[in-house]
Amino acid sequence: MQDKHMRKIEKEIRMVDLKAQYLSAKIEIDAAIAEVIESTQFINGPIVKAFSKELADFLGAKHVIPCGNGTDALMIALMALELKEGDEIITTPFTFVATAETIAILGLRPVFVDVEEDSFNMDINDLKKKITHRTKVILPVHLFGQCSNMIEISKLAKEHSLYVIEDNAQSIGATLNNENNQMQFTGTFGDIGTLSFFPSKNLGCYGDGGALICNDDRLAERIAMICKHGSKVKYYHEIVGVNSRLDAIQAAVLRVKLTKLVQYNTHRAKAADIYDAALGIIDEIVIPKRKYGKHVFHQYTLKCQRRDELKEFLKKNDIPSMIYYPVPLHIQGAFSYLGYSEKDFPVSESLSTQVLSLPMHSEITKDEQLYICSKIKEFYLSR
Ligand SMILES: *Cc1c(COP(=O)(O)O)cnc(C)c1O
Repeated sequence: MQDKHMRKIEKEIRMVDLKAQYLSAKIEIDAAIAEVIESTQFINGPIVKAFSKELADFLGAKHVIPCGNGTDALMIALMALELKEGDEIITTPFTFVATAETIAILGLRPVFVDVEEDSFNMDINDLKKKITHRTKVILPVHLFGQCSNMIEISKLAKEHSLYVIEDNAQSIGATLNNENNQMQFTGTFGDIGTLSFFPSKNLGCYGDGGALICNDDRLAERIAMICKHGSKVKYYHEIVGVNSRLDAIQAAVLRVKLTKLVQYNTHRAKAADIYDAALGIIDEIVIPKRKYGKHVFHQYTLKCQRRDELKEFLKKNDIPSMIYYPVPLHIQGAFSYLGYSEKDFPVSESLSTQVLSLPMHSEITKDEQLYICSKIKEFYLSR
């Protein structure tokens, strides 16, 4: 175990270090939480409202409607569009299950399109082939912190009169230049954008949380109603809704962290540069491509040869790593009823055997990263 002695880092390396991030803002966060407890306004109230407003301002969006979590946000977005059973929703199989699960649970039909090998996001050529007269929504996922090709997706949606819902759970703060060459935040291109504030997301709370982004007044009103049991006025229910809301304590945490989101995302981008410089020279590795606008590196994901062996080697050296995602959705049991089979989405399937996400968070240090990179180099160069 000579390696351990050679290691300069005393602290355990983590995929995500929520403790270190908390400590860096402890005074503000503790005070914000205490304020909610003092006020006893635990549900809705001024703090939730203030957070919604501040996030809308940050994103340059007209409305942010908070809800219970990112999965609810997707479900509510789909509910708000007044779709019919069997309507087709196009998304990718290389994503977290929630994206397709929410489509399925509403009796809508997920239709998958493959992803691009370099951006991991929706492949436009495949998308063009999958649009039918039953298609109602294109649902791109901005995976790992990078925007999808929203210029082309928006164009196709307009051409075919389709709605666009952006699953922006992993990419809050990412931007892309729009067709007028103006910088625009992910989640604001489509009809609705969805967010998750799961603790490990780039803007995470201390429990569950989510939100919907929307620029259309009428649609935003409908979304807000659905979140509140389909009512505008308490006990008068115009449509069928759900109960999905952001706790005031979570909103208080998020208000503090929103003021630091740019700083957090900047740290992630710099950490990505450090990985790039050290790992870009290894032949067996492909570093993540920054293809569409500003990447906020929710994950730093390599494509690598001998992936499983490398993961095991890193583990032996106390370096965690994760596989997002080991099984594409079209070959998961939950979606077998859709009738897809292996080889239907060759890029997604091939990625699932190659991808490896390295530790990435707003507190990661250069020393930690250099140690991780030295071990990866050792793995490839010594065998
Ligand atoms: C995290 C995530 C979700 C779901 O968010 P929850 O808050 O965990 O429900 C949905 N889509 C993607 C792509 C995610 O990464």
